[in-house]
Amino acid sequence: MTSVERARDGAGDMSPDRECYRCDRDVAPTRLFRLVAEPPAALSSDYQTAERFCCPDCAAAMNLSEFSEQLKARARRGVKSLER
Ligand SMILES: [Zn+2]
Repeated sequence: MTSVERARDGAGDMSPDRECYRCDRDVAPTRLFRLVAEPPAALSSDYQTAERFCCPDCAAAMNLSEFSEQLKARARRGVKSLER
């Protein structure tokens, strides 16, 4: 019977602790940026989609972090009120 092999399958499903792939810093999984590199169709036979997780500092260093519109709007308002 092969049912025993199946039962074992679920045990190895633990996902490793997430850390920044660039600086190896321990970062809470909820504070990691998810970077996905998806190859164009022409290269999809040679490359597969890669997924990496990195901390906000590294995302900023790579110019990959973009502030939310909400935050930008608040900053714009702050600048304006300072000018007056
Ligand atoms: Zn990092």
